[in-house]
Amino acid sequence: MSSNFIHDIIDADLASGKHSEVVTRFPPEPNGYLHIGHAKAICLDFGTALKYGGRCHLRYDDTNPTAEDTEYVGAIEEDVRWLGFDWGKNLFWASDYFDRMYECAVELIQMGKAYVCDLSVDAFKEYRGVPHLPGKEPAGRNRSIEENLELFEKMKAGEFADGAYVLRAKIDMNSPNLHMRDPAIYRIKHASHHNTGDKWCIYPMYDFAHCLEDSIEGVTHSLCTLEFEVHRPLYDWILETLSLYQPHQYEFARLNLTYTIMSKRKLLELVKEKLVSNWDDPRMPTICGMRRRGYTPEAVRAFCTEIGITKTESLTDVALLEHHVRTDLNEIAPRRMAVLDPLKVVITTYPEGQSEEFELPNHPQKPETGTRTVPFAREIFIERDDFMEEPVKKFFRLAPGTEVRLRGAYLVTCTDVIKDANGNIVELHCTHDPDSRGGNAPDGRKVKGTIHWVSAQHGIKAEVRLYDRLFTSENPAAEEGDFKDYLNPDSLKVITGIIEPGLASANPGDKFQFERIGYFCADPDTTESKPVFNRTVGLREAASKQA
Ligand code: ATP
Ligand code: MG
Repeated sequence: MSSNFIHDIIDADLASGKHSEVVTRFPPEPNGYLHIGHAKAICLDFGTALKYGGRCHLRYDDTNPTAEDTEYVGAIEEDVRWLGFDWGKNLFWASDYFDRMYECAVELIQMGKAYVCDLSVDAFKEYRGVPHLPGKEPAGRNRSIEENLELFEKMKAGEFADGAYVLRAKIDMNSPNLHMRDPAIYRIKHASHHNTGDKWCIYPMYDFAHCLEDSIEGVTHSLCTLEFEVHRPLYDWILETLSLYQPHQYEFARLNLTYTIMSKRKLLELVKEKLVSNWDDPRMPTICGMRRRGYTPEAVRAFCTEIGITKTESLTDVALLEHHVRTDLNEIAPRRMAVLDPLKVVITTYPEGQSEEFELPNHPQKPETGTRTVPFAREIFIERDDFMEEPVKKFFRLAPGTEVRLRGAYLVTCTDVIKDANGNIVELHCTHDPDSRGGNAPDGRKVKGTIHWVSAQHGIKAEVRLYDRLFTSENPAAEEGDFKDYLNPDSLKVITGIIEPGLASANPGDKFQFERIGYFCADPDTTESKPVFNRTVGLREAASKQA
């Protein structure tokens, strides 16, 4: 992976002997599926460990039992693996450290550095105040150590209702940093935990838990997003006060993408309100959604490398991600023919009942990928917009009296346009040059246009899902009102296309270039009787905008 300011720091730490190995961690809270923003963090955390021959822990930050679900746990692991990273034996849970965390809290109380506080949520905020004015000290701040120990013990024993008390670090009610104004470090929550069951009814707050987790695991460089910068003094205070090993926290700018939202809470809202089919809806910015859409891990990693790691907040154009997807698929996706808006063509000079097979390359620029056979017969489908009755200038495709190449098959000339009573074109009649087998003119005459086709007799119907951006706004999270008001009503268009028969046996996840149309991925949906293909991305940037 390329270098960045964090790697410069690591280089210096290794050179000075401050550290001899690099230990990072990726700490998801299992309260939703991972999204492309997490992919950035994963590439940094795991990529950094790989670069320096160190290790990266996958650690679940499961300190909030009411928001978390084991459904997300398996999904997170699958997504990290799919991205190409491996935590080896280093899979950890914050909840594994609850005993240690409790001991640390007791130790703080014994040092006179933590106290039990009975302020309501509103009073807590009021006492804390605003940055430029001093806060107010709550009465509980001067409780004796013995009394605090006793109250904390009772909190743990379940003698109080949720919210009746919190344990606070005793730091400085006048600090200009509100996070240092005696932050809550333990709260009462009578809730079962997926890992510890009903053992606890008090749970550590994120700020208290996170630094302890990093310290216990011997993390050297704890990398997180910029919003945690103001939490860093607290991170350091806790570990320093407890005389524990101190990892260093470094912050980088989170990824924001145009036409996308990146908050698990909002993504969950879309799922719950059935505005998308699920977390893995191919329109979702989730890793599982992108996988189902046909994005490749290589493309996502290349994108993350290109955007780099900085300390400046920005909004990245989603077209850049799509560009990397297109670039990767152009290399790896076999070419196939599919007609998405079929117009029937009868080759009147081709014998009825006859058919033949053509060998077409899987990838014209990569002969080593071999060929596939494609059946041809008297009736075929072509794309409706590959024909113009009155061709405009520079239209080199099919028109009355003109000749085009059917990719890899024959040269054909349009002789008749058949219309229904309303004047709609329902069928074309063409003649073919039998000596142009393979699509080559026998006399070397110039035929400019080449179009794709599928045999009407052999072609298979497929459901094709044409995805577009989920939002119409560049930055839906920053819009006035509800972000859901900016959903793109045309983000999914479902059509029936005709695909070359070989595509019917594609396995879920197989990716193809439908020639001249775009990149498509076979969907795992088995409820449909016909094959289902998701449009991953158009061939060119502009093409991805038209449905
Ligand atoms: P969200 O805001 O989407 O709910 P989160 O930050 O609450 O995300 P966590 O599970 O706590 O989600 O995140 C795990 C790690 O991923 C954290 O270190 C966090 O900083 C990082 N991360 C989350 N969102 C982004 C993003 N958009 N860009 C880069 N890193 C991110
Ligand atoms: Mg979080």
